[in-house]
Amino acid sequence: MNRIQLLKKLEVTPRWDVIVIGGGASGLGVAVDSVTRGYKTLLLEASDLAKGTSSRSTKLVHGGVRYLEQGDIPLVLEALRERGLLHQNAPHLVHHLSFLIPRYQWWEGPFFGIGLKVYDALAGKLNLAPSHLVSREETLKRIPNIEEKHLLGGVEYFDGQFDDARLAVSLARTATHHGACVLNYAKVTGLTKQDGIVSGVTFTDLESGVSHTASGAVVVNATGIFTDEIRMMDDAKAAKAVQPSQGVHLVFDRSFLQGDSAIMVPHTDDGRVLFVIPWHDKVLVGTTDTPMQDPEIEPRALKEEVGFILRNAARYLARDPEEKDILSIFAGQRPLVRKPGKDGASTKAISRNHEVLISDGGLVTIVGGKWTTYRKMAEDTVDHAATLAGLPESPCVTDHLQLHGWRSHNAAPLPDWLSVYGSESEEIQKLIAENPALGEKMHPRLPYPLATVVWGARHEQACTLEDILSRRTRSLLLDARATIEAAPAVAAVLAAELGHDKAWEERQVHEFTELAKGYLHHPTH
Ligand SMILES: Cc1cc2nc3c(=O)[nH]c(=O)nc-3n(C[C@H](O)[C@H](O)[C@H](O)COP(=O)(O)OP(=O)(O)OC[C@H]3O[C@@H](n4cnc5c(N)ncnc54)[C@H](O)[C@@H]3O)c2cc1C
Repeated sequence: MNRIQLLKKLEVTPRWDVIVIGGGASGLGVAVDSVTRGYKTLLLEASDLAKGTSSRSTKLVHGGVRYLEQGDIPLVLEALRERGLLHQNAPHLVHHLSFLIPRYQWWEGPFFGIGLKVYDALAGKLNLAPSHLVSREETLKRIPNIEEKHLLGGVEYFDGQFDDARLAVSLARTATHHGACVLNYAKVTGLTKQDGIVSGVTFTDLESGVSHTASGAVVVNATGIFTDEIRMMDDAKAAKAVQPSQGVHLVFDRSFLQGDSAIMVPHTDDGRVLFVIPWHDKVLVGTTDTPMQDPEIEPRALKEEVGFILRNAARYLARDPEEKDILSIFAGQRPLVRKPGKDGASTKAISRNHEVLISDGGLVTIVGGKWTTYRKMAEDTVDHAATLAGLPESPCVTDHLQLHGWRSHNAAPLPDWLSVYGSESEEIQKLIAENPALGEKMHPRLPYPLATVVWGARHEQACTLEDILSRRTRSLLLDARATIEAAPAVAAVLAAELGHDKAWEERQVHEFTELAKGYLHHPTH
């Protein structure tokens, strides 16, 4: 369904069962859960799908080895179950990844070895493959350019890896396919109330500038780091529920991490976990955990965050990455559940659990959690929302629901850029066969052909150059400079597809270039 059809649906639906605010992991999960229970569902996203935190994660579907160390067994259990379900429900976007914890001290073998056996056991029959100790020779074979000095060996374990923004698109299309109306560029500006109880929302369609009202039996606030803005529309005195915590990733050329395994460092010099991960033929290194005062939709890395990652990566890689090697820097803010009286405290100790809050005015808010557990978070939220609104009882059906684009893990392998389209990959190849010009790559250093631009505009609600370059494809995160260079050619294809004029095209290139400069390496502060 394209945007015009979705707006039509909005017009002919006088009342919704569930209105969801926010189109990140939490909101999209709620929309899929709600519509597949048979509830009439509307989702409104102020910007693009996954524009916020949900496109800026470490891209791991994981139980959280660190939470195990913190003793949070219920969270690990829940996340490991969800990891297994997501691997089954979105095989085109989730795959297994081998992680090596390098051992430089004698005690690290038994310490991490035993811990990871517990991790295996907790995953039960959804475990991916057993963890085991690896010799020095084997570690060097798996990661030829790991730091060799004092290396004793490693511990190997398995977790899942995914493409976050592509999963968001898949969820949006799953929801739409089942009858939901999922609108991006639709900003909620207020809540309507009847007898003191929330009865709907007012919102502006940012594409046309037109304001609308939508009424619903229940409204779910799934706005991540912006949660408190919506809570204050309901109750100006609402206590803050979210503490933003910033995490930064640096992206490097694949030559810094050869082999197919990732490196996991359980304790950096500030006691954090550091990942060095192969992703879409590049290497992601991160992350940080910096408490932030205010939420920011387009956060910028701090100088010390970049320094921390470079310093720690250099300890584990034979060739030390330097600032000049950075291809892209991206930052995101975790919407952590705020604990009363803990303002400004270290955020790495705050639990990654989620909470469903219900206000006196009947606003349902989902906070915290992580991508891995989005399905369970949605189930809990809709359970509460449906009961509160008195909707007809209907069980959650998402634990074995195949997501849009489902394509078996056993199907013939596809090129990496194409594999994320899953069952629709043949359609994209057909586009190229019909118009070979769309087979041209958008830039020599990026893997994406121009067909991805046409596809994103036609089928994936992409409205802007940034939607295409940052989230429908992951160009901006993989190589910011190449993406800036590709922008004019991509804008021309997008403008033609969406029926925009030359002035729009030029404005888009200008706006995108300004934004993309923030992904090059000149962090502030
Ligand atoms: C650095 C980092 C690494 C992470 N790594 C992982 C990982 O590897 N694995 C994992 O499982 N999890 C990870 N997470 C956690 C995970 O990314 C988040 O928990 C999740 O993406 C949060 O999703 P959300 O939908 O709650 O928030 P968001 O994705 O931010 O979505 C909220 C949306 O609400 C919209 N919105 C705001 N105001 C309005 C309004 N007025 N009207 C309409 N819409 C509005 C925003 O535009 C936004 O798109 C990581 C997080 C960070 C920051």
